[in-house]
Amino acid sequence: MKLRTFPQGVFLSPAKELTAHRSIVEIGSPPKVVLPLWQHTGAPLEPLVKRGDVVKKGQKVADVEAFIAAPLHASISGKVTAIEEWWHPSMGKFRAIVIENDGQEEVERREPLPKDIENLDSLFLRKWIREGGMVGLGGAAFPTHVKVSPPAGKIIDTVILNGAECEPYLTCDHRVMVERPDTVLLGLRILVRACGAKRAYIGIEENKEECLTLFAKLVKYMSIPTEVVPLATKYPQGSEKQIILAILGREVPPGGLPLDVGVVVNNVQTASAIGRMAEEGMPLVERVITVSGECIQTPGNLEVPLGTVLEGIVAFCGGFVKTPQKIIMGGPMTGIAQSSLQVPVIKGTSGFLFFSRPYEKKEYPCIRCGRCVDGCPMFLLPYHLARLAEFQAFLEAEEHRVLDCMECGVCSYVCPAGIPLTQFIKLAKAEIIRRKKGGVTR
Ligand code: SF4
Ligand code: SF4
Repeated sequence: MKLRTFPQGVFLSPAKELTAHRSIVEIGSPPKVVLPLWQHTGAPLEPLVKRGDVVKKGQKVADVEAFIAAPLHASISGKVTAIEEWWHPSMGKFRAIVIENDGQEEVERREPLPKDIENLDSLFLRKWIREGGMVGLGGAAFPTHVKVSPPAGKIIDTVILNGAECEPYLTCDHRVMVERPDTVLLGLRILVRACGAKRAYIGIEENKEECLTLFAKLVKYMSIPTEVVPLATKYPQGSEKQIILAILGREVPPGGLPLDVGVVVNNVQTASAIGRMAEEGMPLVERVITVSGECIQTPGNLEVPLGTVLEGIVAFCGGFVKTPQKIIMGGPMTGIAQSSLQVPVIKGTSGFLFFSRPYEKKEYPCIRCGRCVDGCPMFLLPYHLARLAEFQAFLEAEEHRVLDCMECGVCSYVCPAGIPLTQFIKLAKAEIIRRKKGGVTR
C-alpha cells in the first residue's frame, strides 16, 4: 500500500487500543443539558428562547445574523430553566441555555432532503447546512456553510474528507467510519454539491485498515469521482494544510486558506452528521465522542446529546478507577485541560481523556539541538519564536511568521529540554491578534 504524507511532523504512539474496537454507545437523554451560546468559530449567538419556555428536541434555540456563526438547537425536550454563565470547556465560563428534561421526548424535525442530491441547488444546500447548525466536528468547529461558500472569484474543485484522526487516544471518527459509512458518503455528496466541486478524496491513516478496506469498496458506487487515499500514521496528518499537501500536493500559501488552492476539507463525522440530517431531518443535536485514559472505568465511544455535562458522562462510564490528575477535552496534543466535571459537551468536543499523571516535564535551557525545527510541519523556527515571545518582541515574531503556527504541539513534544514552546508561541499569537484588533502597531 503506497502511503502519502507531508514533510516533517512526528510519529506518536497512537494509544488507541483502549477504544478503537468499542462500538458507539448512545448514552440517552440526560436529565439536563447546558448549551453554551458560543461553541463554534465566529460570532457568539443570542438566545431565541427565555426562561420558562418549553422546547422540543431539534428546535432552534439560539442564532445570530453574522455569516460566520451556526445556530444552536435543543438537544432534549424540556423547559428552559436558566440562561446564565456556566463552565465552558475552552473559555472558562460563558452564557448558556440550561434545559431540564421533561421526559416527553417531543421532537421538531425538518423535511428530509430529496434523494437526488446532484440536482439540488448549491445555495439552497448551503442555507440548509447552516440551518442545521453544522460545524466542523474534528475540533475546530468552523461553520460548515462558510467553508462551502467560496467568495467571488474563487473556485473549489475538490472536497477532502478527513478521516486521519491523528491525535492519540481518539477513536470516535474511526468508529463513525466503520459503523456509519452510508451517512458519511451521503454527507460527502451534499458537501460536494454545495460547494460545486468536481471530485472528492477520503484520507484515512493506515492504522485504520478496516476503514480503508470498507471505503475502497463503497466509493465505487459514488455518483462523483471519489478516491480513498491511505495516509501514513503521522502527526499532524489530519491538519488541513498537511492533508491537502499529502493528497493533492497543493501547498496552502502562508496566511491562506484551503479554498485558496481550490479545496474544502471536512471531517468524516461532520459529513456523517450532514448525511443523517438529510435522512432524518434532525439538526446537529448530538455527536460521537471518545472517553479514554487510564483513570476511567469503562473507556468507549459514546453518542451524546450536546450540552451533556461531563459528570454524567463519567458516571455512565462507571466512574474513575483512579483519581485523574489531568482531564483533557480533545486529544493530548491540542486538547484543552479541564478543571471541572461541570463542563458540557459542545460541538467541538471530540473526547475527554483522564490521566493519572499531569505529564509536566522539567524545563532546562535550550541545547540548540534543532529537533523543534526538524519537527515543525509549518517550517517555522519554534525555538526562536518562543524566545521572541518571551521577550515580547511581537513585531519580530510576526516577521518570522508566528501567525502561521497552527499550534499542533509538535515542537513542545519533541523538545528534550522540556521547553513549553507552543505555549510561548500561542501567547505571542494571541497578543499580536489583540494588538491588531486594538490598532496597536508595536
Ligand atoms: S506548534 Fe507551531 S511552531 Fe510548534 S511545531 Fe506546531 S506549527 Fe510548528
Ligand atoms: S528542541 Fe528544545 S532544546 Fe532543541 S533547539 Fe528546540 S527549543 Fe532548543
